[in-house]
Amino acid sequence: MRKLILAGNWKMNKGAASAAADLARGVAAEVGSVSEVDVVLCPPFTSLRPVVDAVKGTRIAVGAQNMYPEDSGAFTGEISPLDLLDCGCKYVILGHSERRTIFKETNEFINKKVICALAKGLIPIMCIGETEQERVDGKTEAVVENHLKGGLAGLTAEQVQTVVIAYEPVWAIGTGKTASPDDAQAVHKFCRDWLTAAYDQATAQAVRIQYGGSMKPDNAHDLLGQPDIDGGLIGGASLKVDSFVGIIRNSGAL
Ligand code: PEP
Repeated sequence: MRKLILAGNWKMNKGAASAAADLARGVAAEVGSVSEVDVVLCPPFTSLRPVVDAVKGTRIAVGAQNMYPEDSGAFTGEISPLDLLDCGCKYVILGHSERRTIFKETNEFINKKVICALAKGLIPIMCIGETEQERVDGKTEAVVENHLKGGLAGLTAEQVQTVVIAYEPVWAIGTGKTASPDDAQAVHKFCRDWLTAAYDQATAQAVRIQYGGSMKPDNAHDLLGQPDIDGGLIGGASLKVDSFVGIIRNSGAL
């Protein structure tokens, strides 16, 4: 049985220590002792430490939104996985569609990051998903397969079981348009079948596949009730205690 994982991607919001700590403390006060689902907060780099401090002693974990696949060196503006670990991170979001689109990240680069994160002991949340045009053109499965194949290249079955996949249809991110539970389930099932073919059934059954794209308290129950949807990567709704906690409470797991 896979445990749901509900992660808040704060994006470039709440980077100031006090605002981040307030939000983290607010979430922790409501769901800090919840053990039925894994709760993760992913603030900007500058507020990782305040958030780690704010959730200390609770079951809430912290993740970063990106990393560079080297320990240290001349990589201006980048962040090392070792520094993320030092800050107290457990997870790292990799290959978010905003990074693929705005920062031109490729499957190959994302794959390097996934391999490096695993080697250092961080759990990657690897994002995949099609654009609106790709969906209209009937290319959803091809795009998702390409992202899975490229991003997971070279990983052993054991390593893949640690990775969290976030299926995020790009057209649903920050738009208020959500994939219907049936449509999302169909893509998640496709991903799991792909994992079964690429690895084996036990591996595919162990991998957690989150849905991301305008998840809210009122659609969380139906989405998270689908057999192959194992959690959510939540952007906008993770910026307010009520909406993020509402999703967790409506997940059907508590
Ligand atoms: C995201 O950025 O990963 C995301 C899913 O955003 P939103 O929930 O705002 O659509």
